[in-house]
Amino acid sequence: MFIEVNDAVKEYGQGENKIHALDHASLGIEEGEICVILGPSGSGKSTLLNMLGGLDSLDSGSVRVGDTELTGLGKKELTEYRRRDIGVVFQSYNLIAELNVKENIRVVKDISGDGALDIDELIEELGLKKHAAAFPAELSGGQQQRCAIGRALVKNPKLLLCDELTGALDSSSSRDVLKMLEKMNEKYHTTIVIITHNEGIAAMSDRIIRIHDGKVRQNITNKRIKVEELDI
Ligand code: ADP
Repeated sequence: MFIEVNDAVKEYGQGENKIHALDHASLGIEEGEICVILGPSGSGKSTLLNMLGGLDSLDSGSVRVGDTELTGLGKKELTEYRRRDIGVVFQSYNLIAELNVKENIRVVKDISGDGALDIDELIEELGLKKHAAAFPAELSGGQQQRCAIGRALVKNPKLLLCDELTGALDSSSSRDVLKMLEKMNEKYHTTIVIITHNEGIAAMSDRIIRIHDGKVRQNITNKRIKVEELDI
């Protein structure tokens, strides 16, 4: 398994107010898969994503991504891991307002290592060639999110984490954005983990994981269908 989460526990609060954000959760994800994690609000999805991205640490249990055992890593090593191996896309696009599309992607490339992708090629694949000089405020939500995907992918990360990335988009823009993920997964073999509460998205994945109250309720492989055919 490329990703292995073992008996992960994360608690918030004290005494009666204690919340088990992750409650002995274990799961595995293979390299190159698109994995969709489903669960209602408050079930622990973001907590899990934060653990995979090295943004937070567990109270007990372990997380391994590729060769990197995250458990026990120091702050500096986690920062290095995030910079080298992880791309993240959020519901809010998090673009830099003062920079155009190409510059937004370039600033990330500039701090990436040797394996970074060619910006012009990436912009073309994202369908943003005509908008390369446009600023975020001049773009639609779907275009901004495609630019955000470019920022996350330009370093050619081992793992792309997507947190409700279509949450603010209409169904046509959502489809465009998801098609980009499908294309990038096919071209670069990037492992992609998408957390969502949109059940319709699950059909595009190779693996569907359901979590509830911090526990993994289901982890099944799925024969994926094309984003074009999704019912979203
Ligand atoms: P989801 O992403 O599925 O909506 P989260 O992982 O954000 O769920 O949250 C899981 C549970 O942990 C929720 O009950 C949430 O309120 C709680 N939680 C998450 N982060 C914190 C925090 N920093 N402090 C206190 N409680 C938190």
